[in-house]
Amino acid sequence: MTIPIRRTSLDREHPFSFACRCCGQCCRAKKIQVNPYETARLARNLGVSTTEFIARYTVENGSCLRFDDNNICVFLGPEGCSVHADRPLVCRLYPLGRHVNEQGEEWFSELEPEAECRGAFGTGSAIADYLEDQGAADYMRAADSYFAILWTMMNALDISAPDDDSDESAESDNRDTEAFFASGGWLDMDKSVKRYCREREIPIPDPVDEKMCIHHQALHLWIHGSL
Ligand code: SF4
Ligand code: SF4
Repeated sequence: MTIPIRRTSLDREHPFSFACRCCGQCCRAKKIQVNPYETARLARNLGVSTTEFIARYTVENGSCLRFDDNNICVFLGPEGCSVHADRPLVCRLYPLGRHVNEQGEEWFSELEPEAECRGAFGTGSAIADYLEDQGAADYMRAADSYFAILWTMMNALDISAPDDDSDESAESDNRDTEAFFASGGWLDMDKSVKRYCREREIPIPDPVDEKMCIHHQALHLWIHGSL
């Protein structure tokens, strides 16, 4: 579902505020994409591994949160979002949208909320204040780092795409890489970190931020064919 945009090309200094009434209407009929950091935060919230979280609570190979048969996010409960402290970035910012291009340039859009939304826009503060209020900093850093890795992976796949002159083993390697990428295997932070640490006989860190650093290292090694 594409959400209509009211205004776009806004920077962090742009006047913006939004008072949410927590009615949960925006947790319906949406597609909530999650990166490995968001998955790890949600998994930690629920006390499960990212492997289990992906299996139980996501669709599309771990890239999107599961919605139920009524098209409602599985985390929407009677009191609102049941994982509020660890909700994904898009949920934190809505109805503000954040965009980043391959060059790392950032801009924001004011989205058109659903007709039933009881929240109220204002101009009393700036987008930067709103980001702080929503605890978005760690999520934006994580989103940007995984976005950069995603671009690297996609470019690596293009570069190594088989051509008429490629040998059989190169084609096989490329198929393995594409299959791993397409299956969403790279999204499972706990699985990657566990393997990385076991092979190096180092302890698995507990904080999600530290796990993410190791996950990045593991992904870079995988991209460059060393893992
Ligand atoms: S629909 Fe509007 S008021 Fe309701 S939870 Fe979403 S943003 Fe808040
Ligand atoms: S994670 Fe929470 S805020 Fe986000 S769509 Fe689901 S219930 Fe709504």
